Amino acid sequence: MTEGPKLVDTPADLRAEVRALRAGGSRIALVPTMGALHEGHLALVRQAKALADAVIVSIFVNPTQFAPNEDFSRYPRTLERDLDLLKGEGANFAYVPAASDMYPAGFSTRIVPAGPAEGLESDFRPHFFSGVTLVVAKLFLQSGADVAIFGEKDYQQLKVVTRMARDLDIPIEIVPGTTVREADGLALSSRNRYLTPEERAVAPVISRALRAAGDAIRAGSAPQDAAGQARAMITEAGLKVDYVEARHAETLAPPIAGDPIRLLAAAWLGKTRLIDNLPA
Ligand code: AMP
Repeated sequence: MTEGPKLVDTPADLRAEVRALRAGGSRIALVPTMGALHEGHLALVRQAKALADAVIVSIFVNPTQFAPNEDFSRYPRTLERDLDLLKGEGANFAYVPAASDMYPAGFSTRIVPAGPAEGLESDFRPHFFSGVTLVVAKLFLQSGADVAIFGEKDYQQLKVVTRMARDLDIPIEIVPGTTVREADGLALSSRNRYLTPEERAVAPVISRALRAAGDAIRAGSAPQDAAGQARAMITEAGLKVDYVEARHAETLAPPIAGDPIRLLAAAWLGKTRLIDNLPA
């Protein structure tokens, strides 16, 4: 019988495990998650397995990236099932720290990312990337991993985290993972389980609209015009759009002619906020 991942729940224990792995010459990969694992997360774990000798999957619903009015308390927590899924993938460690170990009394440090963190998500969730970079920097330093895998599903996050690691001289390689989608195009997300059946039927309009905009840009449309059409299509389907934007694919700055383009969207479907993005 294959062993499940070894459960590690304190920074000190993680360090001890990593020290032992390093002594044996292992290359270590980290896959940070908030749990409620789905096929998108598992694809990242498989990618990590191919890149390293030992894979650590962290499961931590990070309080510092949620605003008080957001879904921190109702965010799905499915640890037993997550551990079963990780066992199936051969993940070596599940790192599940307590909030009180990540942010003990007296914790006072903040990270304020700029550059790719400006605009898009930050216009609607102003503290989000500060919380993300803080927890991710801690996970990088605690794990000492050689490589970390981040999904393109959260494209701005991927760029922000990559920039943060470089700016803070954290010696880790950030590798992107392709977005895993349902057959109808909806990007897998732990939050999809919030959707009612009626909302679930409407949700693929986001990826459909982005795909159409990408096609239009490749056929010669101005990126901003194509993004505007995607915004209209998503709004018409009954969603409340936070943003639908065409940006420079690397810097996420507003594009100029000839730039590589990424289309990014965030919209509310009832009480659920969905995000997605595609290349143009
Ligand atoms: P989360 O647990 O939602 O914070 O996501 C943890 C990691 O999984 C992040 O790097 C996400 O970008 C990635 N991820 C989430 N959904 C998907 C998906 N559908 N396809 C690929 N990666 C994903």
